[in-house]
Amino acid sequence: MKNRLGRAIVALIFLFLFGIYFYKQLGIRTFSDDIAFWGEATSLHPEGFEASSAVAEQNGTGAAASEAQPEPTPEPTATPEPTPAPIAFDLSSWEYMLVNGDHSIDQYVPAELVYLDQAVEALDIQTAYNQNRVAVDARIAQPLLDMAKACKDAGYPVFLSSGYRSYSEQSANFQRICANNGITDGKDANGHYITMPAGCSEHQTGLCCDITDKYREIKNDEIFQTDTYKWLKEHCAEYGFILRFPTGKEDITGVMNEGWHFRYVGLEAAKYIKENDLTLEEFWQRFGPAETAAETM
Ligand SMILES: [Zn+2]
Repeated sequence: MKNRLGRAIVALIFLFLFGIYFYKQLGIRTFSDDIAFWGEATSLHPEGFEASSAVAEQNGTGAAASEAQPEPTPEPTATPEPTPAPIAFDLSSWEYMLVNGDHSIDQYVPAELVYLDQAVEALDIQTAYNQNRVAVDARIAQPLLDMAKACKDAGYPVFLSSGYRSYSEQSANFQRICANNGITDGKDANGHYITMPAGCSEHQTGLCCDITDKYREIKNDEIFQTDTYKWLKEHCAEYGFILRFPTGKEDITGVMNEGWHFRYVGLEAAKYIKENDLTLEEFWQRFGPAETAAETM
């Protein structure tokens, strides 16, 4: 009986110790399996990074996760921009004709003149009272009318005051204005022309037009206050025209500032001249030798 009890106690103690041992072994295995499981899942997940990012973004930590990633290497520029061709103008072309106090065109007459009467009637643009005075070189008639119409459509009154003038008309003009101002050379006190000698007026080319406000044919500094002038100055280059005698350039053009005198030079040159704040004289200095300018005359 005693031995049986003793064996039973020993057996219970043995079972107890075995139980503790087994429990510890089970715990270690379970902990080890956790490590193995998560490690394996992270390393073998085919979209591990994306899945992690998605979870991170849902948790509001996406930005931090993204910042941790290295910047993608920029793609090399596929093709470099072509170098723009150097701007050049063939100054022997008709639209660049240079006329000023130093460059007379003598008795030049445009090959084809057109009168604007009918066209301006259709457009409701007013011209000088003697309509036959307003003619221009046929090559600029359409751009001039387009510009005048656009100005009128923008809400500003347009008056085409003076276009082509013949050598003899300019001669008469010169005499009259000189007499009225008590001068003989056509120049003001600053030495700038207020009227050009015959042969030296741009109006003889037929490539320009004096444009003023329809209701106030102003040909003095007051024109700078008119909306018509402001619109034309801003938009004339879009039609191939330039403001020929701008304020501040009198010593270069030799002519007093004239806010009404617009000259056709073509779209490309007008854009270039406006962007570079040039006069036609400076344009010639830049793109043609002086002797070429003289030959053209
Ligand atoms: Zn003029």
